[in-house]
Amino acid sequence: MVLNLGKNSAEVDVEATKALYKDRSYVNTKCCCPSCRNYMEKIRCTDKPVARFFSGIGVDPVKAESVWAYLPGDAPFTQRYHCVFPIVCTQYKIKDEESFSVITDGFSVSFREEEGKLFLVADWTLPWISV
Ligand SMILES: [Zn+2]
Repeated sequence: MVLNLGKNSAEVDVEATKALYKDRSYVNTKCCCPSCRNYMEKIRCTDKPVARFFSGIGVDPVKAESVWAYLPGDAPFTQRYHCVFPIVCTQYKIKDEESFSVITDGFSVSFREEEGKLFLVADWTLPWISV
């Protein structure tokens, strides 16, 4: 499946990416801080366009490589996350890692290349738990 994001594109091996996620651990088994707990809780009720985007490329967002909470959105109601997801690609062309493509409101993605591996990077705003 070819994923075009701005000036970047990648031929994603969806089956191999699915297989990669099968044995990965859940975000909240690596960290149980409030931000990670919120992430696990809120992505379950995520928008359909976001869910479709992830399933289309074989990525399971509950098994992200890393999740960082940063700048609160409209605190205390939302939290912005920077998430990294490994993907398996047969080939790719990355021209600009800084250009994020908006998939839907509050969810933008780009690619990041590291040591010959390709990652999907997401800037994601999620609702924050009520405290
Ligand atoms: Zn955490």
